[in-house]
Amino acid sequence: MTNANGRFGVHGGQYIPETLMNAVIELEKAYNHYKNDPEFNRELTELLDAYAGRPSRLYYAEKMTKTLGGAKIYLKREDLNHTGSHKINNVLGQALLAKKMGKTRLIAETGAGQHGVATATAAALMDMECVVFMGEEDTKRQALNVYRMKLLGAEVIPVTSGTATLKDAVSEAMREWTSRIDDTHYCLGSVMGPHPFPTIVRDFQAVISREIKAQILEKEHRLPDAVIACVGGGSNAIGSFYHFIEDEGVRLIGCEAAGRGIDTFETAATINTGKLGIFHGMKSYFCQDKYGQIAPVYSISAGLDYPGIGPEHANLHDMGRAEYVPVTDAEAVCAFEFLSKMEGIIPAIESAHAVAHAMKIAPTMNKDQIIVITISGRGDKDCAAIARYRGEDIYE
Ligand SMILES: *Cc1c(COP(=O)(O)O)cnc(C)c1O
Repeated sequence: MTNANGRFGVHGGQYIPETLMNAVIELEKAYNHYKNDPEFNRELTELLDAYAGRPSRLYYAEKMTKTLGGAKIYLKREDLNHTGSHKINNVLGQALLAKKMGKTRLIAETGAGQHGVATATAAALMDMECVVFMGEEDTKRQALNVYRMKLLGAEVIPVTSGTATLKDAVSEAMREWTSRIDDTHYCLGSVMGPHPFPTIVRDFQAVISREIKAQILEKEHRLPDAVIACVGGGSNAIGSFYHFIEDEGVRLIGCEAAGRGIDTFETAATINTGKLGIFHGMKSYFCQDKYGQIAPVYSISAGLDYPGIGPEHANLHDMGRAEYVPVTDAEAVCAFEFLSKMEGIIPAIESAHAVAHAMKIAPTMNKDQIIVITISGRGDKDCAAIARYRGEDIYE
């Protein structure tokens, strides 16, 4: 899907300072070597299975299906992975790759802290140094995850530039990588940034759709009619879509965080409100103000609160192969509560965006049709915020 220059249609590429070129060239060479290396793949599969708990379950949500009265609904349970989300799939792959490249230090950006925790986890396991950049605002909102990362042995550096949130943490991590590439690998957390990151992260997350395909064929002897996932940078979504891209009959639906609505300024719905631009080393769609500056974004879900989208999604949108729909805070919170009561599964508020859209379309579909929803993570981390949203202050 990627061409030689790391393009997905007009998107992607490498819009980076000269000083980073060597680092991404070294990374691309190493990746192209190890991705076909049987020993590397054996070690990675062993880590994913024995440590992260793969394969994750594909669960038939029978009560939800009957209540909505339409398509048959399956949940891909990435929430059951070690550290509680799909992030670990990518991190174990990149950490192993970095180790093979002789790197001894991992750096990462994090928003809500999920990717930071996953990176700190892999660093602990593989005996590597770990530094995580996190917007100062986010360190306050996600104090528990800051503690987790420190407990795992990582250093957490609060970033005070810009809006002191995720996009600033990415910028700072890139700056740090520029100044120290000898012993350091930048473990990027989503399908974004300069080539080869969008391809590497997609390949490591593609395990999700590889498993969905095998599991649904075993259970239903046919492919699903739709695969639905939430989209921040887009890693759990592209991982869920990848092995279905060639299957034209499978609708691929990405759910963006609309925040308070796509007709307000408090939104993070990039495809629905953004424009073509260049930021963080890639060409893609970004939320921008009328001067073309990156706009501040908002969502109740810290994990979807990013002003851009990965270049492969931008291209799937241009080609009309995938649909990207907005889901508001209010809809996501209702879905968060619905899935908890209905199936006894508390989803991450990010994943609840995908559940919300499935709740809209399932009743319009036939009983012999099938929807797969990726539950990208578990919702324990969100309980205090959702309680607050409902006007209840609980002690965390
Ligand atoms: C980080 C995160 C996301 C958003 O990231 P993507 O790269 O778009 O997948 C979604 N869900 C959970 C649980 C996350 O931790």
